[in-house]
Amino acid sequence: MGCSSEGLATALRAAAEVIAEHRDELVDLDRAIGDADHGENLNRGFTAIVAALETQLPPTPGAVAKLAATTLISKVGGAAGPLYGTAFLRASAKLGEAAEVDSALLVDALRAALEGVQARGKAVGGDATMVDALIPAVSAAETAAGGSVAEVLTAAADAADRGAESTVDLIPRKGRASYLGERAVGHLDPGARSTALLLRAFAEAAR
Ligand code: ADP
Ligand code: MG
Ligand code: MG
Repeated sequence: MGCSSEGLATALRAAAEVIAEHRDELVDLDRAIGDADHGENLNRGFTAIVAALETQLPPTPGAVAKLAATTLISKVGGAAGPLYGTAFLRASAKLGEAAEVDSALLVDALRAALEGVQARGKAVGGDATMVDALIPAVSAAETAAGGSVAEVLTAAADAADRGAESTVDLIPRKGRASYLGERAVGHLDPGARSTALLLRAFAEAAR
């Protein structure tokens, strides 16, 4: 069974709840190696997505993803707003006019989201960013592509958790944390953590 426009809207509302619950944790992670605003930035963005979805439910999952993208780009500054905005925008383009997202289309959209983040931010694996959660998530999603949407997302979320954890041992090469260099080693990257949280929220919503 695939995911409809309403299904994606429900997943985004679930994601907003998870981000609100983890707002302070993300702020604390960003305080250690950045400027202590990642939780606030994402909470503002996802709150705005929920508000936008209250005034209109776009007709297709692609249009819902596009609404999320434009909301994040307009409401969230810093690094993460444009990066997550680009992720949703590329996913939206891949979803096109489809009425339902099945596992194969979902995997393509996740791959497109990763490519968008990398095109925009120029980070590669090992730079200690959200890309370190996304790369293994997309690989795991591809491996799980024969399963249901929930199975694909659960595999992606599990891999993203492990990928996020891997940033603890890395020297940041992109974003504010890169200013600290080796002094940032020992800290979890906030954007990698939020990526893992978002994928977990989507996976739970799809069950
Ligand atoms: P800012 O650093 O502008 O305050 P946020 O705190 O909201 O923005 O987001 C920081 C997160 O953004 C980092 O933890 C990292 O995961 C991600 N990030 C920063 N720069 C890049 C980049 N060039 N490519 C990928 N991700 C990045
Ligand atoms: Mg920050
Ligand atoms: Mg900032």
